[in-house]
Amino acid sequence: MARALKAFINSFALHRNLVKVREITQNKKVLAMIKANGYGHGIVNVAKSLQEADAFGVACIEEAVELREAGIQNRIVLMEGFFDAEAELPEIFRLNLEPVVHHESHIGALASCENPLRIWLKINTGMNRLGFPVDLVHPIRAKIAENPALSIAGYLTHFAKADEVDNPFTQRQIEKFEATIQHLPEEKSLANSAAILAVKNSHGDWVRPGIMLYGVSPFPKRHGALEGLIPVMSLRSALIAIQSLAKGEIVGYGGDFVCPHAMRIGVVAVGYGDGYPRLAPTGTPILVNGKRTVLVGRVSMDMVAVDLNAQPEAKVGDIVELWGEKLPVETVAEAIGTTAYELLTGLSTRVPLEIIG
Ligand SMILES: *Cc1c(COP(=O)(O)O)cnc(C)c1O
Repeated sequence: MARALKAFINSFALHRNLVKVREITQNKKVLAMIKANGYGHGIVNVAKSLQEADAFGVACIEEAVELREAGIQNRIVLMEGFFDAEAELPEIFRLNLEPVVHHESHIGALASCENPLRIWLKINTGMNRLGFPVDLVHPIRAKIAENPALSIAGYLTHFAKADEVDNPFTQRQIEKFEATIQHLPEEKSLANSAAILAVKNSHGDWVRPGIMLYGVSPFPKRHGALEGLIPVMSLRSALIAIQSLAKGEIVGYGGDFVCPHAMRIGVVAVGYGDGYPRLAPTGTPILVNGKRTVLVGRVSMDMVAVDLNAQPEAKVGDIVELWGEKLPVETVAEAIGTTAYELLTGLSTRVPLEIIG
């Protein structure tokens, strides 16, 4: 029997979550963010499940190549533009990709470009990561207009604090963006998942949902179902051994966990080599046969241990859910002190993805 660990990807849920985005935004265009291997869900299958998206957003040309080679024909935006003009521009033309232009070096590289190219212009309104300062937007736009091969698809900005509902910083970013581009005819895009859900005046012409497409809430202390979303990934494994231990015996490396009383311990085939964080502490929730229990002791490369005291009937081969439909990845992330984004994108290539639905 193969190792039981698998990430089940519910493609129907992906589709439903996109429908939800359209409902909330009253049919704004959707630039579906599928960077980082579709947030760990498998970029090609995610793209196929989200075919009706108006465009896909990826972080780099390698991700775009993978999509085109799999036959994906949707528009694709390179969210960080290109890193090496000489190497990437020929591919960008060949694959009909749309780079985000966010830096002076991009302008120089594109000045002499002869192939028709659609670009997006990124504006920095306070996140201070990528984008032109607002006072350079009009000069840059004029410079781009000098080359008839180039056309601007739209303007982007990105929020730093949209997950902090009602933080006035977000409205200040919106005001800065609008004051800069309000009379320009091209399309506008501001909103990530948090802004789609909580900042109605940020929807612009295009929204850019990421985490919500995967059924996950962008807000602290919440989970996808509360936003009307369906979780897409269920990470499941199985019990591969059971230990009956006396009070005072240890579990795992370093003996960090010492049994406070006689214990039945289950060993599960998942570890940090799969992307389950080594720093997950004793007490992190885990489901065995659909019932909630906790991780005990240190996470190993290929295994973790769970408390089976409340489940005397549990046996080798029984199903374990690390996160998913019945145990929100947000809840697990919070117990570990990280985010659902990091857990999902951190799955290693050793974990097979199985598409269902
Ligand atoms: C990743 C990303 C998003 C999506 O963010 P979520 O919080 O996952 O919705 C939107 N815009 C940009 C520029 C991004 O890089």
